Amino acid sequence: MNNSFNQSVVIGLDVGGTNIRIGTQAFGQKLTFFEKTARADVLISPDVGLCLAIFIQNYINRHQLAHQTVAIAIGFPSTLSADRRTILQTPNILDMDNIPMADILESNLNIPVFLERDVNLIFDWDSQSRQLDMIGACVGIYFGTGIGNAIFIDGLPLVGYDGCAGEIGHIPRAGSTEICGCGNLGCAECYASGRRLTTINQQYFPQTEIQAIFTLHRESPVIIDYVDEIACVIATEVNILNPGFVIIGGGVLTMQDFPKDLLDERIRFHCRKPFPSQNLQIFYSAESVQAGVLGAVSMAWRKYTTLTEAKPC
Ligand SMILES: [Zn+2]
Repeated sequence: MNNSFNQSVVIGLDVGGTNIRIGTQAFGQKLTFFEKTARADVLISPDVGLCLAIFIQNYINRHQLAHQTVAIAIGFPSTLSADRRTILQTPNILDMDNIPMADILESNLNIPVFLERDVNLIFDWDSQSRQLDMIGACVGIYFGTGIGNAIFIDGLPLVGYDGCAGEIGHIPRAGSTEICGCGNLGCAECYASGRRLTTINQQYFPQTEIQAIFTLHRESPVIIDYVDEIACVIATEVNILNPGFVIIGGGVLTMQDFPKDLLDERIRFHCRKPFPSQNLQIFYSAESVQAGVLGAVSMAWRKYTTLTEAKPC
């Protein structure tokens, strides 16, 4: 390995609706200086690009990383342009639409900056931590407030023509009048998301704390139907892509007593027989709070290595 790597570090960030997580990694070493800060304490003005630049610069100064940092990678809960330089749209964060974020951060920090969808970085880390080989298509589907989806082809995220591939939460259902957060009618997110679970809780089990909904009501037909909706989303992608493996996770699936056995049975019920059903490998996400940052530093090293190798001697 190049000697210059010995002194170098990369910085990774995971920008979420609630918190911003940040960490540093020297090549081949463990994550250090991991911190979590409330997003509202960082993005304090509509100029979110400048706010983020100031936050990163303060972090660099505090940890004396100015001369070592060779790349920064950031996961956003956003749709990004196909070249991964611009944030197109961020449903859950105000003032974060149509921002040339990579340009803004690079001009303020003078360090190469790489952007990616947060779900792609989390999936990348989930796969690495299990030492799974990303051969052909591999997918991650995360059921939180909405549905996050990562599709990797031969180890690289599928970007799509506009940058917006992997929006499985928005597969439509004919005849539905449910309004999705995206504005369309009848998207899968209307039936198989954390948002839907909240509605079920209010409508059918108003006396139950939502954290206990699977513990107390997992035999209830409405909960069995809900788990089947989740299975249909997963099976849809499996039937299209025949992935080498699927990683599933997100806040809904990690709730107490979520019926994983039922979900597994329903996924296989809906997958085409004998293939891709027969060889389908399903893993649950490791759900580390550091996953997004670990995926980001991993990407930062990959991009930095590609940059330095591309430069003429
Ligand atoms: Zn939608």
